[in-house]
Amino acid sequence: AKGGKKEVHKANFEIDLIDAKDGEVVTRFPPEPSGYLHIGHAKAAVLNQYFANAYHGKLIIRFDDTNPSKEKTEFQDSIIEDLRLLGIKGDKLTFSSDYFQEMYDLAVKMIKEGKAYCDDTPLEKMRAERMDGIKSERRDRTVEENLRIFTEEMKNGTEEGLKNCVRAKIDYTALNKTLRDPVIYRCNLTPHHRTGSEWKMYPTYDFCVPIVDALEGVTHALRTIEYRDRNAQYEWMLSALGLRKVHIWDFARVNFIRTLLSKRKLQWFVDKNYVENWDDPRFPTVRGIRRRGMTVEGLKNFIISQGPSKNIINLDWSLIWAVNKKIIDPIAPRHTALDSKDLVTVSIVDGPELHSEKKAKHKKNPDVGEKDVYYSKKVLIEQADAALISDNEEVTFMDWGNVICTKVHKDADGKVVSIDAKLHLDGDFRKTKLKLTWLAAEKTVNVELVDFDHLITKDKLDEGDNFEDFLTPETRFETPAIADVNVEKMKVGDIIQFERKGYYILDSNADGKYIFFTVPDGKQKK
Ligand code: ATP
Ligand code: MG
Ligand code: MG
Repeated sequence: AKGGKKEVHKANFEIDLIDAKDGEVVTRFPPEPSGYLHIGHAKAAVLNQYFANAYHGKLIIRFDDTNPSKEKTEFQDSIIEDLRLLGIKGDKLTFSSDYFQEMYDLAVKMIKEGKAYCDDTPLEKMRAERMDGIKSERRDRTVEENLRIFTEEMKNGTEEGLKNCVRAKIDYTALNKTLRDPVIYRCNLTPHHRTGSEWKMYPTYDFCVPIVDALEGVTHALRTIEYRDRNAQYEWMLSALGLRKVHIWDFARVNFIRTLLSKRKLQWFVDKNYVENWDDPRFPTVRGIRRRGMTVEGLKNFIISQGPSKNIINLDWSLIWAVNKKIIDPIAPRHTALDSKDLVTVSIVDGPELHSEKKAKHKKNPDVGEKDVYYSKKVLIEQADAALISDNEEVTFMDWGNVICTKVHKDADGKVVSIDAKLHLDGDFRKTKLKLTWLAAEKTVNVELVDFDHLITKDKLDEGDNFEDFLTPETRFETPAIADVNVEKMKVGDIIQFERKGYYILDSNADGKYIFFTVPDGKQKK
């Protein structure tokens, strides 16, 4: 389509970038290093990379680090690591802070040309004036006065400087309120994580992004749709400064039900110890969902399958977990775990002495390898299963064969305490009703199975809702269990299936404590 030259690779997107020339497209992903990468950022990063690749162009990864009060090197490093994990390196890594001098010079130029002014109207009043389209009393300050305040007072962070900000002189009555003389520079004495105390004032997002996009040669700036009102302002900045045009291309933010994606709010959960840290399995961060069992491939497939839709979406988590299941199911080794509560011993009169046999870890995929299955005269089954068995019922023990339960012993409350049985290995497993998971009583490992709930109770918070009013009281659920001894050979991060239970990821095995997290498979409501 693009001049018939090189074939432009397309996924299932139907949308082309306007005015995109093969080999010349430059996109950028501009995270602010104020938190860990979350699934929304991942979408933006993958889309930017997708378009850069599709047009054989370049992707810039730019840290948008213009607010020292929120930004940290820790966040910056983690974002780079997480992008790497997603296979996103970018052709260039840059920092908005590399352009502080250029931006300063451009602000001076705007002031000199009468396109910007310093304003010390108190914050609340300024806000009200913007709301009502009222002209600021400072709008008519002379160029000389503005220059003095900006280049001396604000630049040095003096008392007078701190009271002022710089505003672009656009149109205080504009219908589009983003054009009502937006703030483009403000003072901040907090040291910057890269430039230290060199600067006492910083450009705002609205001023910084169009400038750095133009300076870096970005051809297509992908922005989430809620910035659409700001597009006019972005374009105003470029033309006021005589900078190169950049195409803006809007795409929808991704949201998930009962999930917060704002870094400020996520930070709150970390600070209040509601979660362990930014990689908590209840968090929508790349690290959080990875710990929960999301594969890189699953995450990328999901994002690509969503495409660059323009509709604001509030997705159910089951969608992404269903995509992930397709990746893990064909390769996840099968193991056995039994709920430890009220386990029932089955004594098999003609059962074998304790011994092990090699069995496939995955019946349909021999490449997954083999495991040791232990057989014995005494095996354990779950109380819930035992409760379903009647005297003389023939059942199937998975990976073994049929067994006849000659006698089911119950206590006064009807709880099963033990079962007498005998082998019937020639029996037909197609004729039994119950196919049971079991473990040789002498060969088990204690494990803990952990499941989680969403941190908030409301599917979608409305404007004006305070998320703190919608906290789920309990979000972590632990079930003690026993598992087959093969789990002792597993590594943290391994994903398996416990037969008849679901998928699990080994989260830790320190001090011989095996902690598994449930990997959602898209079927559960959660
Ligand atoms: P947060 O609210 O988490 O601070 P942000 O948009 O302020 O989000 P940035 O670090 O500035 O965070 O975002 C980097 C890029 O990721 C931006 O281009 C932004 O549009 C995009 N982005 C952020 N959240 C989402 C989301 N939920 N869906 C899609 N893209 C997103
Ligand atoms: Mg932002
Ligand atoms: Mg934000």
